[in-house]
Amino acid sequence: MRTDPADLVRPDIAALEEYAPVEPIEAQAAKLGLRPDQIAKLDGNENPYGPSPRVAEAVARARFELYPDPFHTELREAIAGYAGAPATRIMFGNGSDELLELVIRLLLSPGDQVITCEPTFGMYSFLPPLFLGRVVTVARRSDFAVDVEAVLGAITPRTKIVLLASPNNPTGNLLPLPDLRRVLARAPVVVVDEAYVEFSPPGSSTVPLTSEYDNLVVLRTFSKWAGLAGLRAGYGVFTTELIRHLWKIKQPYNLNVAAAAAVLASLSDRDYLLANVAKLASERARTSRALGALPGWQVYPSDANFLLCRLPSARATKDRLWRAGIMVRSYFGKPGLDDYLRISVGLREHMDRLVRALS
Ligand code: PMP
Repeated sequence: MRTDPADLVRPDIAALEEYAPVEPIEAQAAKLGLRPDQIAKLDGNENPYGPSPRVAEAVARARFELYPDPFHTELREAIAGYAGAPATRIMFGNGSDELLELVIRLLLSPGDQVITCEPTFGMYSFLPPLFLGRVVTVARRSDFAVDVEAVLGAITPRTKIVLLASPNNPTGNLLPLPDLRRVLARAPVVVVDEAYVEFSPPGSSTVPLTSEYDNLVVLRTFSKWAGLAGLRAGYGVFTTELIRHLWKIKQPYNLNVAAAAAVLASLSDRDYLLANVAKLASERARTSRALGALPGWQVYPSDANFLLCRLPSARATKDRLWRAGIMVRSYFGKPGLDDYLRISVGLREHMDRLVRALS
């Protein structure tokens, strides 16, 4: 008798909860009797200005019948100046999520540990178990700063990676460089995820430290500042030693032709994109003041394109906003975050609508 294929599924994967997908915006709009463009989508930290207009032109010219360059040669050279690291230490990925998975795959043996600082980006606790790694969670301080002492105290001989987002999602705060240096001095490998760094003050990136430390990896993305979340393009700055091995395990065609064309077009139109980033940063300041004036609301300082808010009756507020066609992110059921909402910074008219709906 042959084994039932369902019994062949790795037991730890069989035991995982099924993924609860977010309803597509079209379906949510239909439920509300609205058109999708009438929804203020403030739940995904996406860029409301979208990509550079040059992206559509470049994608239209791309040759989809050819496989992409597995070595991303042109892209790595094009981005070196922007990233502030040599092309030889850069690799592109199908979103920065893919590069995070590759680093985990590269370093983790079964039972090895990854330290994360909660609350943080959900991918950090999702990925390591898929590679039989263990997630060790260190709580952030009450102001959501990384508790460096606790991180250092959590390092064991089985620790391979410390994962830190800067700015952090959903809390919006940067990791101060002196804190990072203390972790780098003791942790085997530190991955700093800079998905939102373009929204932070100049000089916030930790890329310059990659030439100083042989255990620092920095991940970046085109999803946020360049408005390309749907095309999937991220990159990482690695050390010479780590990238040598990463090239061996990467899928050859991980970055598709359309995404590659979009990256080059975005880099050629950097001023336009960064002007949109500046508009979002000023909208962030304006919205933060307006929300902070609502009774009982606490709005956390943010160096990213979203605001974490603590408020009375977050559940009811989320429902009320939803009925008004405004989608925001909640964390109900996540320890300590029941009273919080995360609100992406959108267009001025979206933020005005948000504040009106709440007033
Ligand atoms: N890192 C963080 C901290 C994020 O919040 C997100 C997006 N939600 C990502 C990475 C994902 O980046 P990408 O789209 O490049 O995979």
